[in-house]
Amino acid sequence: MNYREFGKTGEKISALGFGCMRFPEYKEGEKNFVDQDKVDEMIAYAYENGVNYFDTAPGYCNTNSEAALGQAVKDFRDKILISTKCFVEAGMGADGYRKLLETSLSHLGTDHVDFYHFWGINRGVYENIILKEGLLEAAAKAREEGLIRHISFSFHDAPEVIKYIVDTSEERGVKMESMLCQYNLLDRSNEEMIKYVNEKGLGTVAMGPVGGGRLAAPTDLYAKLTGKASIATYELAFKFCLGNPNLNCALSGMQNLDMVQKNVKVASDDTAFSAEEWEKLGVAMEEIKKFSELYCTGCKYCQPCPVGIDIPRIFEMYTYYNVYGLKDHAKNMMTHYVQQEGKTFADCKKCGICEKKCPQQLAIREHLEKVCKILCD
Ligand code: SF4
Ligand code: SF4
Repeated sequence: MNYREFGKTGEKISALGFGCMRFPEYKEGEKNFVDQDKVDEMIAYAYENGVNYFDTAPGYCNTNSEAALGQAVKDFRDKILISTKCFVEAGMGADGYRKLLETSLSHLGTDHVDFYHFWGINRGVYENIILKEGLLEAAAKAREEGLIRHISFSFHDAPEVIKYIVDTSEERGVKMESMLCQYNLLDRSNEEMIKYVNEKGLGTVAMGPVGGGRLAAPTDLYAKLTGKASIATYELAFKFCLGNPNLNCALSGMQNLDMVQKNVKVASDDTAFSAEEWEKLGVAMEEIKKFSELYCTGCKYCQPCPVGIDIPRIFEMYTYYNVYGLKDHAKNMMTHYVQQEGKTFADCKKCGICEKKCPQQLAIREHLEKVCKILCD
């Protein structure tokens, strides 16, 4: 297993983190259960092969994830880092924060959490609840008492809000120590901010390095980029994440032992991209996008379309199909879009309003016709 300094937290973190949101489950009557034997086996394998970061949350696996993780790690609890999360709600105040933390500790069967996250926050939640209701101070107090070792946040908002959160919490005297955010080969929007926070000393963890399962499909993208034999898409996705020098750990929500074994192998070998290869890959991705026959930047200037066709979304699906080679996934996206009553070329009035507004001067109608035909077939 490869390890990295986890920002300036003083911890060393394994390049692969175990996301505990997809534990195997079964149902009895109306109740959901985690298959503890399988979880024990998966977690033990990960631990024995060097994974030391386990990320859970109260809501995962029908609220059973924390207890299942706690049970699975009880014999080596002190040798690993446990991360869990606090769901921030208006009106919870410091007492509510404390109650949630104590519940998590009890479910996990431990006396401390190593990384306790404000969960999935955005600017509004941060300003209106975390700052106004004194939750930063509540976190600092829990840290002083040894109930949590590091204060963290996970994030869903525009990238620039990350800087705002990190800077203002520091000004308030309670520094964030690590950040968990979305980042993968297909979605690099947080890349600059990952660099920023890493330079500020925060540990950085990526969720969804395999694109929420999207990159689990096979692709010949690697071969296209490097001229070498193609590799599995999850492998490419990991190599890409781990090639980013500012990223400390890539989380994967693992469902079975086979996935654990495969991910451990990728995170343990020395074939992560070098900085140079990684740069090259990034540039190559952009070039491929540019020179693909349909280069939609997703700027949305063509919107709104009078009949409601989500042009950038449909073109994005085609990028998955054409550029990334994720054909089945792209078709599934289209099926889902249509099921949600999304409009397609079949609804187009051919008015051309969209084309007048497109800075790429795309022949939108022509492309739409072709793309919808391919993806709806
Ligand atoms: S040409 Fe079709 S896609 Fe473009 S704005 Fe008109 S109806 Fe919408
Ligand atoms: S205006 Fe053109 S480039 Fe921008 S989202 Fe629409 S189709 Fe894509």
